[in-house]
Amino acid sequence: MTEKIWLSSPHMGGNELKYIHEAFEENWVAPLGPNVNEFEKELEKKLQSNVKVAALSAGTAALHLALIECGVEYGDEVICQSMTFSASANPIAYLGAVPVFVDSEKDTWNLCPNALEDAIKDSILKGKKPKAIIAVHLYGMPFKVEEVMYIADKYEIPVIEDAAEALGSTYKGKACGTFGKYGVLSFNGNKIITTSGGGALVCHNLEDKEKTVFLSTQARDNAPHYQHSQIGYNYRMSNISAGIGRGQMEVLDERVNARRSMHNFYVDLFEDIDSVNVFSEPNSDYFSNHWLSAIIIDSKMLRKTREDLRKEFLMVNIESRPLWKPMHLQPVFKDCKYFGSNISENLFEDGLCLPSGSNLNESHKERISKLIEGFFL
Ligand SMILES: *Cc1c(COP(=O)(O)O)cnc(C)c1O
Repeated sequence: MTEKIWLSSPHMGGNELKYIHEAFEENWVAPLGPNVNEFEKELEKKLQSNVKVAALSAGTAALHLALIECGVEYGDEVICQSMTFSASANPIAYLGAVPVFVDSEKDTWNLCPNALEDAIKDSILKGKKPKAIIAVHLYGMPFKVEEVMYIADKYEIPVIEDAAEALGSTYKGKACGTFGKYGVLSFNGNKIITTSGGGALVCHNLEDKEKTVFLSTQARDNAPHYQHSQIGYNYRMSNISAGIGRGQMEVLDERVNARRSMHNFYVDLFEDIDSVNVFSEPNSDYFSNHWLSAIIIDSKMLRKTREDLRKEFLMVNIESRPLWKPMHLQPVFKDCKYFGSNISENLFEDGLCLPSGSNLNESHKERISKLIEGFFL
């Protein structure tokens, strides 16, 4: 069997083990320690804008805590981009709150500002202003930051920026993850950098960060015994994981360059194929880390579907994957409100994510080219 080509696999930089060794030598084998502190500092340096970062056990945990800190409670409504990974929406349900899903627009595949405003107006009309908006930078592509933030500010609703896929992306030179009241990062194994599993909440002041650390370490009051006046969580990042994160931060810029060069590889590959559009930045305000490269296939023109392509890839041991299936089409969320038309649905029907890893070499690319050229002949 030929070697499997993954969509996106972990790619170590080299110094990860050094930081893990340090943790062992000093016995910081716990969900706190020097690696956690240093990893947070590195993230703050990368994101700039004076942010304060709390390292957590997962991006999902960061979303959960962000919602709690936005005051989301049982029965509240929270607006969420429909086209996303389920982890964007699940924490709303953890709190017994109600997701309201919103369609994407065609340029960035992210939150449609018009549908967003429709959703807000409808909720307000029914006497229930949404408590938060979860906006996602899908596949690393910044959402329409100015339009979305303008509407959120107009109605005074906090934005939780799901930048789980967008570390290293910028809009007008400013880092994704720093625009909302809170920003969410993920370091899961398939993300642009990984800590094996992990996440972070990006805050804009020390108070919010301290609140996040407090909630993520079981909400212990200041007392010699264990005393609690709030429900806490066990969401802090391990010092071992953070060691991996420190090594990965040293190569983040290289990883972004490599992912962007995979995107360019596909742009070149599909240049003369009219039935395919490679997902690209709408203009130079947008800088995507191109975590995943994705294409839209005009299946009517081509008379073949993205499933046909996916299966052909599979036969030669190359992984590809349909775009995220919108949340309003998921059985588990079928009864939720939805605003918009069928943009995200159409993207899902015709879209495919292609191997995008920063560790793909020339021979991998040749195998991909060969299959594409055969398929679109
Ligand atoms: C990966 C991801 C998450 C969740 O992050 P975990 O660290 O896996 O919990 C949330 N939102 C999006 C858009 C993601 O891609």
